[in-house]
Amino acid sequence: MTKLKPGDQVECRIKSAAIVSPYHSYDESKTFEVIAVDNGGCYLYVPHYYLVKGSVVLDAYRRKTLSIDPKFLGEQFVYILENLIANIHQQTDGVFCKVCNEFYQFAEPNRKDKTFICFSCRANPYR
Ligand SMILES: [Zn+2]
Repeated sequence: MTKLKPGDQVECRIKSAAIVSPYHSYDESKTFEVIAVDNGGCYLYVPHYYLVKGSVVLDAYRRKTLSIDPKFLGEQFVYILENLIANIHQQTDGVFCKVCNEFYQFAEPNRKDKTFICFSCRANPYR
């Protein structure tokens, strides 16, 4: 499997608010930001509006041990094994448009809040 690094995005399958194997049936698919990696898995940032079973709040001790970006202190994260990753979008690969959710290869965030809105959506917000 591709070597993950903090900042990469991974797609996971969710069923009843739990991250499940990509081979199981699922309710929805969500993309998470990787905040740390270890030998067998990775730590994913869980935004407060996501409900994910097993997510815990990042405390100062764990943040330091895992060298996680201080901006994630007090935020929720979940640890998963690599086999639960359905898809990987490496940081250098591109970004998702915040509006239409299309993935744009080689694109970079173009908004102040570090998100990206593609040309089509900027040109026509109602498309
Ligand atoms: Zn778009």
